[in-house]
Amino acid sequence: MPVNDCIPVPTFHTMDDKHTLSPQGEKPSRSEAEAAVRTLIKWAGDDPDREGLLDTPNRVIRSYEEFFAGYSSDPSEILSRSFEETDGYDEMVLLKNISFESHCEHHIVPILGVAHVAYVPESRVVGISKLARIVEAYGKRLQIQERLTSQIANVIFDVLHPKGVAVVVEAQHQCMTTRGVHKAGVAMETSCMLGCFRDDPGQRSEFLQAIGRR
Ligand SMILES: [Zn+2]
Repeated sequence: MPVNDCIPVPTFHTMDDKHTLSPQGEKPSRSEAEAAVRTLIKWAGDDPDREGLLDTPNRVIRSYEEFFAGYSSDPSEILSRSFEETDGYDEMVLLKNISFESHCEHHIVPILGVAHVAYVPESRVVGISKLARIVEAYGKRLQIQERLTSQIANVIFDVLHPKGVAVVVEAQHQCMTTRGVHKAGVAMETSCMLGCFRDDPGQRSEFLQAIGRR
């Protein structure tokens, strides 16, 4: 696997950042959102007033609340409760195979994959479930995989100030399998290495070995 240093991207920490609001700064009402779904059903060629579709706009909007729940969570807040009593633990902490569902921002179809997240603490550690919640908080948004990968790494680096962070994301994009080029079984892999994982080949290969990449 080619290990490229990630492209640094701005990390958006709060729920009121510019990525979470429409350009007008206000959310449409629920009924406006449901009307938009009715329009899309008509655009697809069906009748939103037939029995089977009557409740669909409501269901779609509720699904959207789930798919895009990340906009109402604050990743830096998730990491804010950390522990310093580590008795000098300074080895890699790794959470492997964190499954996630996201949606591609170009087609709004699912991106399904797993993330592997590691850091080497400087003095602070977090509860291990927090790493999974970070993946969730950025995954449940409109995404591209490259940015998802960088955002996960950057927020851990910025909030915990560890010696290093490594993130590898492997995912299948349904916009490639169900439309467009129709290539099933293709997985995209992205990685972001910061601090010691970027600078120290030994540390990087320890991580890659632990996730079965070497
Ligand atoms: Zn897409």
